[in-house]
Amino acid sequence: MKRPYNFSAGPAAMPQEVLTQAADEMLDWPDASGKRCGMGVMEMSHRGHEFLSIYAQAEADLRELLAVPANFQILFMQGGGLAENAIVPLNLSALKKDASGRGRADFVVTGSWSEKSQQEAAKYCGNHLAASGKPEGFTRIPDAGTWKLSADASYVHICSNETINGVEFHTLPDLKALGSKAELVVDFSSHVASRGVDWSRVGLAFGGAQKNLGPAGLTLVVVREDLLGHALAICPSAFNYKTVADNQSMYNTPPTYAIYVAGLVFQWLKRQGGIAAMERANIAKAELLYQTIDGSGLYFNKVHTDCRSRMNVPFFLQDESLNDAFLAGAKEAGLLQLKGHKSVGGMRASIYNAIPLEGVQALCAYMQAFERSHG
Ligand code: PMP
Repeated sequence: MKRPYNFSAGPAAMPQEVLTQAADEMLDWPDASGKRCGMGVMEMSHRGHEFLSIYAQAEADLRELLAVPANFQILFMQGGGLAENAIVPLNLSALKKDASGRGRADFVVTGSWSEKSQQEAAKYCGNHLAASGKPEGFTRIPDAGTWKLSADASYVHICSNETINGVEFHTLPDLKALGSKAELVVDFSSHVASRGVDWSRVGLAFGGAQKNLGPAGLTLVVVREDLLGHALAICPSAFNYKTVADNQSMYNTPPTYAIYVAGLVFQWLKRQGGIAAMERANIAKAELLYQTIDGSGLYFNKVHTDCRSRMNVPFFLQDESLNDAFLAGAKEAGLLQLKGHKSVGGMRASIYNAIPLEGVQALCAYMQAFERSHG
């Protein structure tokens, strides 16, 4: 079945093979040997051996794919990226105390999501804006040499891919080299599994699953073990990373079906050749789309070339009165959900792992044809 290409920012396109497999297994899940168990995954107890095997496989596959070191815990939680904006300071802000006896966090704000993270953390800890790309309209990442990092922060928060603004850190900052003793906290919601992660630079990374990993409802947290056990007394138990880790993410009922589907995505990623292969494909897709934008007289992208996102490509039409015609024609051509985020307008093509090169080629061909007929 040939489906349209779906450029949604999230919840987003899923690999078709995964949807087909989930559909096939919906009523009666088969184990690795093919033996059917008489239940769908949604109907299984999270403590039964069937689901425990699904969980263990998903965790092991993700650990292998992302090369997560043994001293990091993988937690499958709920609440999404926005809940993590509170859960992270509730768990990590007390790693150190600042001069006033409070924990504090530094924020590097490179777009809407890191801005929200700072606002939320302010409820739970001292917080400090170390750098902001806002004055330049979030079109570049402030040079790390200019960041004003606190001497006593527990962690430094970055959003390594800003989904709305299309700004990506192509390498994670090395806080030690910048003279900071703080832990690096990374919101990698919108590009997790699109490229490798240098865990030597990271204390904790989190992301909602609904862009590159699977269905909404699952939140991935990868945290170094020595950062567990420092939660504030007010931290809800179900959001205390140590409690979650000590209970293999089953202190409360985990999002079982979302974990299962994400597990199918992990197996699909392995069949594609793993993260290195995805990264190569993602670079090729992004290059093609940015070349099409930069080479046109109708479309433009405002982000500095050294930090353009490979996953979320916002672009604008010089003549905004053509926006509706562009979107209507795209839909006709089988290219869905290209409308930009309401806060920035224009268009946005999210080209996550599940979008093949052919999808980007089809988008570029449509953009060029639209330009010829409206230029
Ligand atoms: N961080 C980033 C980078 C995001 O893209 C999003 C969602 N688009 C969020 C956080 C918020 O995630 P959720 O809606 O899952 O809370």
